[in-house]
Amino acid sequence: MDNCIFCKIAAKQIPASVVYEDDELLAFKDINPAAPVHLLVIPKQHIATLSDCTDAQAPLLGKMLALAPQLAAQHGIAVQADAEGERSGGYKTLINAGPDGGQEVYHLHLHVYGGPRPWRGLGT
Ligand code: AMP
Ligand code: ZN
Repeated sequence: MDNCIFCKIAAKQIPASVVYEDDELLAFKDINPAAPVHLLVIPKQHIATLSDCTDAQAPLLGKMLALAPQLAAQHGIAVQADAEGERSGGYKTLINAGPDGGQEVYHLHLHVYGGPRPWRGLGT
């Protein structure tokens, strides 16, 4: 898709700090991080918004979400549990859709962000 910044990142036409890549997905660091770790997971294929997705995209969406814990572990923000079962660590996952959803870049992306608080987070 012409003039789509995330398509250009997927095509390696503009630089990004890539942390994961396979045949369908790319993950890279958000340029304006809202937390100590802030990653974006995108499909390489251009899909403008979650609202364009149907059951046909369910496997792709599942793959995007399932990548989050793997990325979190690799970036030191996984949810941990001690011997007593007390949990620590963690992160958020977020897909903004449309203007009222706060979507600014119209290429589907999953935010994965977290780490030790405090951090500002995204939106409200
Ligand atoms: P959203 O508001 O959900 O559309 O989020 C778009 C995100 O893309 C924001 O968190 C931006 O900081 C991020 N972003 C925009 N341009 C780039 C870029 N060139 N490289 C990495 N992240 C970007
Ligand atoms: Zn695109």
